[in-house]
Amino acid sequence: MTGSVKPRVIAIANQKGGVGKTTTAINLGTALAAVNETVLIIDLDPQGNASTGLGIDRKARRVSTYDVLAENLPLANAILDTAVPRLAIAPSTMDLSGLELEIAASRDRAFRLRKAIEGLAGEFGHFSYVLVDCPPSLNLLTVNAMAAADAILVPLQCEFFALEGLSQLLRTVEQVRSTLNPTLSLQGVVLTMYDARNNLSAQVVADVRAFLKDKVYDTVIPRNVRVSEAPSYGKPVLLYDLKCTGAQAYLRLASEIIQRERNLRAA
Ligand code: ADP
Ligand code: MG
Repeated sequence: MTGSVKPRVIAIANQKGGVGKTTTAINLGTALAAVNETVLIIDLDPQGNASTGLGIDRKARRVSTYDVLAENLPLANAILDTAVPRLAIAPSTMDLSGLELEIAASRDRAFRLRKAIEGLAGEFGHFSYVLVDCPPSLNLLTVNAMAAADAILVPLQCEFFALEGLSQLLRTVEQVRSTLNPTLSLQGVVLTMYDARNNLSAQVVADVRAFLKDKVYDTVIPRNVRVSEAPSYGKPVLLYDLKCTGAQAYLRLASEIIQRERNLRAA
């Protein structure tokens, strides 16, 4: 076995539900794998939508992210292959919803995920990207993700209240940076569920770009029914319908992210 490379860890976070975090984890992960990256998705939402959306049966989740974070089991024990080559997942179960209280008194409570990722080695030490699908809350799970991450990716839905809650999220990122993880950066903001027939969507894109400037990816993910159908087949949209606008947008997002990574390394 070759030695391990340090993966680029990206936490996909927004305390609002329904903004496209899980959809982005699944489909960005698939798109990165499609261009030869090796990707691990870590499901940190007790709802387990990333696990289900990738076709992981509940019965197959014998070791979950709960076991890793609560019992310090090796992350490798939870990792399962998916139907997508080079894309693996560490699934979650509802047990995760009780984790916060269970580990609240432990000194390393915010660093459980970081340690788990650092422990990846041997045949599991080859991931180039780790994407963490966060729950819709700024709780200890999300803090674990931020403490473990190199960067945060924030999906924002193209709707009237898109920016609401963002300042709170950015404050949390700032707090994590000053206490737990000084090198954490805001990797970028991706606008999701863009509706070309709706003037409001275009207005939201303009407002968010004016406010966050080059933090916002050029790629905007369109609202596309194929994207929302795919999870019920346990498939990423890139496997369900590669040609649809949603799948193509996630491929563009992946290449933008890879390009930004290259620029960062060159800087
Ligand atoms: P979150 O993880 O932030 O709660 P999800 O990724 O689960 O959000 O998305 C919320 C809902 O919106 C899901 O039903 C999902 O299928 C749907 N959805 C997400 N992105 C799109 C899109 N681009 N087009 C259509 N439906 C989408
Ligand atoms: Mg989700």
